[in-house]
Amino acid sequence: MRKYLRTGSLAIAVLSGIPTLAQTPAGQLQLEKKFDALIDAKHIGENIKLFSAKPHAIGSPQGKLVAEQILAQFKSYGWDAKIETYHVLFPTPKERVLELTGPLKYKAVLKEPVLKEDGTSGQEGQLPTYNARSADGDVEAELVYVNFGLPSDYEQLEKLGIDVKGKIVIARYGRSWRGIKPKIAQEHGAIGCIIYADPKEDGYYQGEVYPKGPYKNEFGVQRGSVMDIVKYPGDPLTPGTASTENAQRLDRLNAPNLLKIPVLPISAHDAKPLLAALGGPVPPADWRGAFPFTYHVGPGKAKLHLKVAFNWDIKPAYNVIATIKGAQYPDQWVIRGNHHDAWVNGAADPVSGLASLLEEAKAIGELVKSGHQFKRTLVYCAWDGEEPGLLGSTEWLEDHQQDLQQKTVAYINTDGNGRGFLEAGGSHALEGLVGDIAKQVNDPQTNVSVWERSKAEIVANGASTKTKKNCWRGRA
Ligand SMILES: [Zn+2]
Repeated sequence: MRKYLRTGSLAIAVLSGIPTLAQTPAGQLQLEKKFDALIDAKHIGENIKLFSAKPHAIGSPQGKLVAEQILAQFKSYGWDAKIETYHVLFPTPKERVLELTGPLKYKAVLKEPVLKEDGTSGQEGQLPTYNARSADGDVEAELVYVNFGLPSDYEQLEKLGIDVKGKIVIARYGRSWRGIKPKIAQEHGAIGCIIYADPKEDGYYQGEVYPKGPYKNEFGVQRGSVMDIVKYPGDPLTPGTASTENAQRLDRLNAPNLLKIPVLPISAHDAKPLLAALGGPVPPADWRGAFPFTYHVGPGKAKLHLKVAFNWDIKPAYNVIATIKGAQYPDQWVIRGNHHDAWVNGAADPVSGLASLLEEAKAIGELVKSGHQFKRTLVYCAWDGEEPGLLGSTEWLEDHQQDLQQKTVAYINTDGNGRGFLEAGGSHALEGLVGDIAKQVNDPQTNVSVWERSKAEIVANGASTKTKKNCWRGRA
């Protein structure tokens, strides 16, 4: 999940309120300088290597090890830290089959190859390419191309006289959160949904592909959850209550936020023969991707067989929770979080954010050791099971609802850090604070503030005159 802060550390926000140095604006600035000096880029890099060394999805032995390593670091920085465990539904694939059964035959590869340029690409423990929270299913039907799979695309299909009822749809990634695509397909009566990365959005059409550049090569597949988190996030079996060991659980087949149809993400390599086999009308220009043939909507003579089956296991989610008690207002909590689980190695998402969070924790620990007292209680969290549907954080919140409702002052979340522009989003109450801090944090590459950079980006690329006038990207 790419959300909230992308660039720049906002740890300074939680430092406001230190009684010793921070009583005056000058003291506050001096303290922030001291904090900044304690941030060590090299150490962040070492932590990124440590935590992304191996695949560490929720429920994996490596995932547990990563949680334990985070716990040890918090403790070594002087924090009061512990692991809080919940037991959540996390399906992993048992069987995946995708094939054209006639008149043309094609069996999908469904695998990313090992690359000699990428030392981690052949590692054991990688989850296969799949969409978590797809239903089990074994279907065979005609195929229809639904563009991005948005409601407006189905309006267009209706104009073309195409009905997806009883068919399998193929949608390209982009323009929406992936989970919307199978949900809308299901609502229109489709019995299966394939999602693929068209080279137009993420591949050779955009630029150099991996390992030469950052775009997907023809075998790259985007994993991800397709659970309806708008309905409710967290463990689908325990809406509103914590997934403790003996919690009452819904029957999986009755969970309101789980799909009823099978879904599978595939690579451009596997999508190409499927799309090439389609008949029916040629779609409008904005439906066409970057394969070198004329796109058709379908159906056509091609029949597709899709079979997926999952291990519907309950897995432990290890949240690492670290606190430093506030000296003046211990019952006011400033909470900071980033997840630690990854679909695969997760160097960018979540480890680039996690390593920065730990560096803040280290610097805060140093300040405490040198005698600073924080007015409010700091709660630093490294969540498990974020990728499959915000599992760890939601269950923890449901477990501590009463405390959190009474004591939370602010929650600051990150998901990753990278070269580029600050992207912040959240409640209006924090807009001024985040804006002020963004003005004081310099972009290391250009040495202007991340606020200025964000503003410049909007002026250069803003979609409308109105957006351009509205200064920076601190969406609230
Ligand atoms: Zn993430």
